[in-house]
Amino acid sequence: MKICMIEDCEKPVAGRGLCHMHYKRWARHGDPLTTKVRKVCQVEGCESPHLCKGYCEKHYRKMRKELAAQ
Ligand SMILES: [Zn+2]
Ligand SMILES: [Zn+2]
Repeated sequence: MKICMIEDCEKPVAGRGLCHMHYKRWARHGDPLTTKVRKVCQVEGCESPHLCKGYCEKHYRKMRKELAAQ
């Protein structure tokens, strides 16, 4: 089984040497890493704009809630 050509991505290839997520980005932006350059949420599959600590607003709030609950 082939895996995605993007560094640190180990998902199976969906097309053009890219996994489904990166292939979608490539199809949409012409560059599979475009969203990283623009800074988006680090949660996989989430492409919301980056807010703080690598997360979008939604995931940042969620993370803080989880941390507070510990
Ligand atoms: Zn990938
Ligand atoms: Zn997010």
